Amino acid sequence: MRIFNFSAGPAVLPTPVLEQVRDELLDWHGRGMSIMEMSHRGKDFTGVIEEVEADLRELMGIPANYKVLFLQGGATQQFAQIPMNLLAGRSADYVLTGSWSKKAYKEAQRIGDVRVAGSTEADRFTRAPRADELQFDPRAAYAHICTNETIHGVEMFELPEPPAGVPLVADMSSHILSRPMDVSRYGLIYAGAQKNIGPAGLVIVIVREDLLGKALPTTPSVMDFATMAEHGSMLNTPPTFGIYLAGLVFKNLKAQGGLAAVEEANIAKANLLYSAIDGSGGFYVNPVEVASRSRMNVPFTLADPALDADFLAEAAARQLSGLKGHKSVGGMRASLYNAMTIAGVEALVDLMQDFAARKA
Ligand SMILES: *Cc1c(COP(=O)(O)O)cnc(C)c1O
Repeated sequence: MRIFNFSAGPAVLPTPVLEQVRDELLDWHGRGMSIMEMSHRGKDFTGVIEEVEADLRELMGIPANYKVLFLQGGATQQFAQIPMNLLAGRSADYVLTGSWSKKAYKEAQRIGDVRVAGSTEADRFTRAPRADELQFDPRAAYAHICTNETIHGVEMFELPEPPAGVPLVADMSSHILSRPMDVSRYGLIYAGAQKNIGPAGLVIVIVREDLLGKALPTTPSVMDFATMAEHGSMLNTPPTFGIYLAGLVFKNLKAQGGLAAVEEANIAKANLLYSAIDGSGGFYVNPVEVASRSRMNVPFTLADPALDADFLAEAAARQLSGLKGHKSVGGMRASLYNAMTIAGVEALVDLMQDFAARKA
């Protein structure tokens, strides 16, 4: 039986995708073996990876002058790999909007010269920054942002605009593919797979070609974007199973009508949950400014933290899992990734209303 999994990541995947994986696990397309057991250099797998890339390009409208890389090491490895590849002896600007952008900044400090272009930490990371709060260096190699802060539940619906010639680099791990995005506004987009794409172990990097070839001389080959691009992400063995599974998720999103349709469903799910929070008379509180509220990750607290354990126990009894908030912010967090159904959100809202009516 499948329960409603609100975990922030690794997270819920579409049931039809998992069913297809199950059906193909022992014998992929009549080959008598799993996709996991095949050579990455063979015709079958190279066909798979090409189709996965083509589907992602179509879904996101990725322009021809961008490379798509299928890498490993998670988004956290990118925190170091991006400065190794893009700094080229200059400095880079970081916008701090929550735990993840802060971690990216801290890791980049190990590699080179980075500075903070603006931060909302004084407001406890409860909103996206305003344009007039950001001071970008016009000579920066890039400006790094996290467009959806998974822990604080802050999403950027308007992009900061660094000076001309300073490419935006975005950590989109927890909201990639949740709505249409204009890829051409970014120099580089990266996302770990385990939130909205597929299994952990795969990270996708979408990078504009003119940013390639500037890696520090000490950059290991598997971490050099240019080398990986040259080899079609297959300098060494790529995470084949993750790539295959991501491809099935992309097909599933295409069958739903693409990202515009996915966005509509995500708006409906988020509205349902935020309305329940805001309509609870203060029993439940989401601290994020309304215009910056994430559609993917919804942290909320109960009026009395002493009720947290009861709430989680009742959630578990109703087959709702993964709701405990991140330890740094406390309370609850419901992650409403693409694969979370409206039925799951309805079940959560039912619990919330019923619980508040009894305990308030
Ligand atoms: C989960 C997450 C990460 C870290 O991902 P790993 O794959 O564990 O390295 C980084 N950034 C954001 C926004 C995330 O949600």
